[in-house]
Amino acid sequence: MRYSGLRVVVEALTGHKGWKPLWRNPEPQSSYDFVIVGGGGHGLATAYYLAKTFREKRIAVLEKGWLGSGNIGRNTTIIRSNYLLPGNEPFYEFSMKLWEGLEQEFNFNAMVSQRGILNLFHSDAQRDAFRRRGNAMLLAGADAKLLDRDAVRRMYPFLNFGNARFPIKGGLLQPRAGTARHDGVAWGYARGADALGVDILQNCEVTGFKIEAGKVTGVETTRGPIAAKKVGVSVAGSSSRVMEKAGMRLPIESHVIQAFVSEGLKLTIDGVLTFGAGHFYISQSDKGGLVFGGDLDGYNTYAQRGNLPVVEDVAESGMAIMPVIGRARVLRNWGGIMDMTMDGSPIIDRTHIDSLYFNGGWCYGGFKATPASGYAFAHLLATDAPHPTANAYRLDRFARGYLIDEKGAGAQPNLH
Ligand SMILES: Cc1cc2nc3c(=O)[nH]c(=O)nc-3n(C[C@H](O)[C@H](O)[C@H](O)COP(=O)(O)OP(=O)(O)OC[C@H]3O[C@@H](n4cnc5c(N)ncnc54)[C@H](O)[C@@H]3O)c2cc1C
Repeated sequence: MRYSGLRVVVEALTGHKGWKPLWRNPEPQSSYDFVIVGGGGHGLATAYYLAKTFREKRIAVLEKGWLGSGNIGRNTTIIRSNYLLPGNEPFYEFSMKLWEGLEQEFNFNAMVSQRGILNLFHSDAQRDAFRRRGNAMLLAGADAKLLDRDAVRRMYPFLNFGNARFPIKGGLLQPRAGTARHDGVAWGYARGADALGVDILQNCEVTGFKIEAGKVTGVETTRGPIAAKKVGVSVAGSSSRVMEKAGMRLPIESHVIQAFVSEGLKLTIDGVLTFGAGHFYISQSDKGGLVFGGDLDGYNTYAQRGNLPVVEDVAESGMAIMPVIGRARVLRNWGGIMDMTMDGSPIIDRTHIDSLYFNGGWCYGGFKATPASGYAFAHLLATDAPHPTANAYRLDRFARGYLIDEKGAGAQPNLH
C-alpha cells in the first residue's frame, strides 16, 4: 500500500477500513541467505538496503523483543553530520544525504525535520576548535556556519547572556542538521523491508551461533534453529553479550544514558541546541515537550534505566545556559543501553569467523548514523568489501593503534 495525501482523504471518507499492517508477522523459515540479528534501526536499515539496493533475497531480521524496543525508540532524535575526523565526517555526511531523501524513498513519514543544530562555545580556544571542525565539515561537502555572540542572541534570546558561569561567546551552526521521529524510522525501514520480501521475526532471540570449521552456518533462537549463508549482528547495547556467544570479546563496554521530556510548552526552541561547557543537548518535539539529555551514567550496566545523580547533573547543565528551563516540569525519563567503544567511534566489519559480520559501537550517537550504517553494512554483507565511507571502522584498529578519537578524549569510555 502506498501512502499519499489522496489515500488519507479516501480512508477518511470510508471509515479508515483500508489501512493494512505495516509488516507481516511470518513464521521463521529453516534457512535464509542473510540473517540480521537485531531489529533496531541499524538492523532494519541493513535488511532494507540489502533487498533494495543490493537486490539480495531470502533475508530475515531476528529481534528478541518488539521493533522499537531498543535504542531506536529511546534516543533524543538528533541527526547531524558535524564531525571532524576524516574517518568519520564523510560517513556521517553520507548519512545526512540519505536522511534528506529517506521519507520519499521508503514512502513513510519519519518526521525528518532539518531545523539546524547549534553547538555553543564559551572560550576563544573552543571557538578555534569549532572553526576547525566547521572547515573540516565544509571540505567533506557538509554545511557549517560560525556565529558570533550577537547572532546566537538573535536566535535564542532566552539563553543566559547576563551573568553566566560559562559566558556564551558564539556557536557552530549546521543548518541541515535536525531531528527525526525515532520509532517512525524503525517502522519506515521495517515496512520498506517487508514490502521487499524480508521476514521480520519479532520475539525471536538469538541464543547461540552454529560455527563449523571456522565458518558460521546459522543461529540458535528461541523459535528454533535457523541456517544462514551469512549472519550480520547489529544489537547495539547487547553487542558484548551476543558476540560472546560466538566466542568473541569486543573492545566495547555497555553504559546507560538517560533522556528527559518536559510537559508540552509553546514553541521555545525551534532547532537543536548544545552546551559547550558541559554535556547537555535540547530540542523541542512537535508535541511541545522539551527533549533533552546529558552524560552517561558512568557505570557499566544492561539495565534500561538510570539514576538520580545524572538527573541532577543534566538539570544543572540546562540551568547553566537557559535558566527558563527551571520553570518546566519533567514529564518522563528513561534510559537506554549503549555500546561504547574505547575510542567512541563505531565498528562495521567482518569478524575472524567466516561469514559472521559485526556492526556496533555506536554509543549515544548511532541514531543519526542509521541510514549510512544500514547501507554500509548491507554493502559489506553483499560484496564482502567495506563501503568507501566506512573504511576506517575496522575491528582491528584497537590492536593496530589506528583509533578514531573524534573528541581527542582518549581511550576511556567515560570521557567520550
Ligand atoms: C537516551 C538516548 C539518547 C540518544 N540520543 C541520540 C541522538 O540524539 N542522536 C543519535 O544519533 N543517537 C542517539 N542515541 C544513540 C542511538 O539511539 C543508538 O546508537 C542507535 O539507536 C543504536 O542502533 P539500533 O537502533 O540498531 O539499536 P537498538 O534499537 O537498540 O537495536 C538493537 C536491537 O537488538 C535486539 N537484540 C539484542 N540482543 C538480541 C538477541 N540476542 N537476539 C535478537 N535481537 C537482539 C534488541 O532487542 C534491540 O531491539 C541515543 C541513545 C539513547 C539511549
